[in-house]
Amino acid sequence: MADITTDVMIIGTGPAGSSAAALLASYGINILIINRYRWLANTPRAHITNQRTMEVLRDLGREVEDEAYMYASAQDLMGENVFCESLAGEELGRMKSWGKSPQSRAEHQLSSPCHM
Ligand SMILES: Cc1cc2nc3c(=O)[nH]c(=O)nc-3n(C[C@H](O)[C@H](O)[C@H](O)COP(=O)(O)OP(=O)(O)OC[C@H]3O[C@@H](n4cnc5c(N)ncnc54)[C@H](O)[C@@H]3O)c2cc1C
Repeated sequence: MADITTDVMIIGTGPAGSSAAALLASYGINILIINRYRWLANTPRAHITNQRTMEVLRDLGREVEDEAYMYASAQDLMGENVFCESLAGEELGRMKSWGKSPQSRAEHQLSSPCHM
C-alpha cells in the first residue's frame, strides 16, 4: 500500500466535503478528498441553491459563481409543485413553491437586494 502524505484529508464529496476542499485548496492547502463511491450523479438532485451557498461559490471566484448561474434554471421555470397521478396522468393540483408566490417572492427579493 502506498504512503500518502497530505495536510488535510476529507472524507465525503458531498456539498460539505467538496466545498471545504475547494476553499482550503484556494488557500494553497494540500488536500486529499475521498468518497465511498467512484461516480458522480449525472442528473440533478436539488431544486434550490440558497443564498449562503452562492456566497461560498462567490468566495471561490467569480467564474465559479458564473458557472453556477450558467447551469441554473430561471425561477419562473420551476415555481410550482404539481401533484398528479403519474407524469402523463391527471393533474390533481399544484401549488406555488420555491419562492414563486407573491409574498414569498417579495421576501426573497428583499433578502437579495443585489438581484432585485
Ligand atoms: C431528494 C433530495 C433533495 C434535496 N434538495 C435540496 C435542494 O434543493 N437544495 C439544498 O440545498 N439541499 C437539498 N437537499 C439536501 C442536500 O442534498 C444535503 O443537505 C447535502 O447533500 C448535505 O451535504 P453533505 O456534504 O453534508 O452530505 P452528503 O451530500 O450526504 O455527502 C456525504 C458524502 O460522504 C460520502 N461518505 C459517507 N460515508 C463515507 C465513508 N465512510 N467513506 C467515504 N465516503 C463516505 C457519501 O457517499 C457522500 O458522497 C436535498 C436532499 C435530498 C435527499
